[in-house]
Amino acid sequence: MSETVRTVQMAIPRMVVDDQEPVLPIARLRDSAGTSRTGCPFHDVRHMLRDVGLRPTRQRLALGWLLFAKGDRHVSAEILHEEAIKARFPVSLATVYNTLHQFTEVGLLRELAVDGSKTYFDTNPSDHHHFFVEGENNLVDIPSTAVEVERVPEAPEGYEIARVDVVVRLRPKRRS
Ligand SMILES: [Zn+2]
Repeated sequence: MSETVRTVQMAIPRMVVDDQEPVLPIARLRDSAGTSRTGCPFHDVRHMLRDVGLRPTRQRLALGWLLFAKGDRHVSAEILHEEAIKARFPVSLATVYNTLHQFTEVGLLRELAVDGSKTYFDTNPSDHHHFFVEGENNLVDIPSTAVEVERVPEAPEGYEIARVDVVVRLRPKRRS
């Protein structure tokens, strides 16, 4: 998959640490010294990974940086894969999936299955709910305090409720 991506060239988003650097500065990811927060997204991602016990590999650092440097957002594996390729970080979609699931397992991300075929990963893992704009595939956060779930069924024997996700589906108003 990575063979075909070399031709793709695009300006990197503005959150790149060094404006002079047109590509994801992979070389920096090898420098594993220093774990303190410096305001540099690379160091923060490394710190973040260490905190949850994940080894800061090159792939995790690069994908972590792409994921978290833009603040709270909802991304699919496909979107992140595209972003990695645009940042000239050749990585397979399978690796992106694996990494997203690893991040989810350690609580860095929250997985949102909005409908059968679409899974989004939320970079804000705290409790909250979502509006989903049908047709636009757009997720918008709803603060947890804005939704009250009055009755939750008992969990089946041997289980406990991990959390309750509410997805409120939106569509444009129909004109009458
Ligand atoms: Zn969210």
